[in-house]
Amino acid sequence: MTPVPALNLVEVDLAALRHNYRLLRRLLPPEVGIMAVVKADAYGHGLAPAAGAFAAAGADCFGVATATEGVALRDAGLDGEIVVLLGLEPEAVAAAVARELSPVVFDDALPAALSRRAVADGREVGVHLKVDLGMGRFGLEPAAAVKLAATIGKLPGLRLTGLLSHFPLADSEPAAATCRQQWRQLATLGEEVAAASGCRPRLHMANSAGLLRFAEARGQMVRPGLSLYGYTPLDFAVSGLDTAGLRPAMALKSRIMQIKELPAGSGVSYGHRFVTSRATRLAVLPLGYADGYPRGVSGRAQVLIGGRRVPVRGTICMNACMAEIDTVPAARVGDEVVFMGRQGEEFIGADEIADWHRTIPYEILCRLGGANERRYHDS
Ligand SMILES: *Cc1c(COP(=O)(O)O)cnc(C)c1O
Repeated sequence: MTPVPALNLVEVDLAALRHNYRLLRRLLPPEVGIMAVVKADAYGHGLAPAAGAFAAAGADCFGVATATEGVALRDAGLDGEIVVLLGLEPEAVAAAVARELSPVVFDDALPAALSRRAVADGREVGVHLKVDLGMGRFGLEPAAAVKLAATIGKLPGLRLTGLLSHFPLADSEPAAATCRQQWRQLATLGEEVAAASGCRPRLHMANSAGLLRFAEARGQMVRPGLSLYGYTPLDFAVSGLDTAGLRPAMALKSRIMQIKELPAGSGVSYGHRFVTSRATRLAVLPLGYADGYPRGVSGRAQVLIGGRRVPVRGTICMNACMAEIDTVPAARVGDEVVFMGRQGEEFIGADEIADWHRTIPYEILCRLGGANERRYHDS
């Protein structure tokens, strides 16, 4: 049977992923490790291909959300440390031990279960202890974390390899002092944990924003996600920091399915929220919110056709939207349409789409990458 090509394609540039990893590597002192965060299907880029690209660039530690993702990475043949950031449910303990995943822990029950299983299997499991220093999410209170560290230090088959926390405000310009204070708390806690447990876990706290902004908060390891995919989470300048070299790795491309000429006064799409004010040439595009392109960008969105930015008109439908192409007289059915990425001199990034939708580039990457067929290339 002849395969049917997809109407819309997410293209992922593996060379850009490797480039971004190397760029961060050069930015950091050699003694600071990098956990390449590949949770959420590598922010929509595809778990195994993205992790493989980072591994090819030198990565040997990966952060996933769930044990399911960790097992998928092992099945894909990935070596190295795989840290399960959300911890484990009891049912996942056996698989995690067998596949040598390193879970994040934040309660008493999981370390005990991991220890029993590790002893039974004759293995040693590395765990990362999480402390909540103001995120209000996963993690123990500092005092409870020190107590649990002491317990872990005594449990056979367990090794306390990391002590981590997470910045809630690293991308907020006015919160610099709070961030630095939170880092100092983790550093102090690291001393208490070492004294209580008899081991010296690596400290790690910095996501992309944290590692880009706060050189002093990098500890023994950093956990970049977004920056590895080519975007900075910072919307303000940081002195001495140049992130222009980051290369967005994901593009979303489609094609023109129909072209029509509408007279003045014609309504376009559901609700007729756009009405032509003059004779207008429209391109009908086979991509909508079911393909992850948010309906909420209706009225603000642009796409690239013939190397030009053109406006999307009317409400975005489930599998379609319309672009006004009066400025691109040469446009024909079948021509390439770039929803995200580069065409000629023009570029639309996930951050720009995010601004139209009042969200963050993370969400745009996850949505578009998750809803479309992906194709990989090496630029
Ligand atoms: C997602 C995540 C990261 C990566 O954050 P970015 O802002 O994408 O760099 C780091 N640490 C933890 C715990 C995370 O959940």
